[in-house]
Amino acid sequence: MFGEDASEMRVLPYWGRNLGNISQDHLRLSLINRDFTSNDYEALLSLDEAAGRSRGANQDRIDRLPCYTVAEGSKAPPCTVCLDPLNVSDQARILPCLHQFHKDCIDRWLRDNSTCPVCKMDPFSV
Ligand SMILES: [Zn+2]
Ligand SMILES: [Zn+2]
Repeated sequence: MFGEDASEMRVLPYWGRNLGNISQDHLRLSLINRDFTSNDYEALLSLDEAAGRSRGANQDRIDRLPCYTVAEGSKAPPCTVCLDPLNVSDQARILPCLHQFHKDCIDRWLRDNSTCPVCKMDPFSV
């Protein structure tokens, strides 16, 4: 008894209500500019959280870890991220587990993985 009308009703929720008064343009606009609901907001939030977990630490937290300039006579072991030695006047960063790396190397690493590359300790958990 509904025939083709019934299938269109499923596609367009507006069908059968006010459609005679709404132009196609208005209908399209009302679909695009639909209200941003709290459901949308929560979906965005959970997306953010998922991204945050996989991205590792943000730069703000990384910057709270101590760094220093390597001095003459330093006995620091080589950086295990790039395997190059920590040379005099290089910027180095030292984690709470006392492992140390080039600042640039460990910053890049921590933005992807928030653990020490040597011992897997979470330097932000202390
Ligand atoms: Zn390095
Ligand atoms: Zn470590």
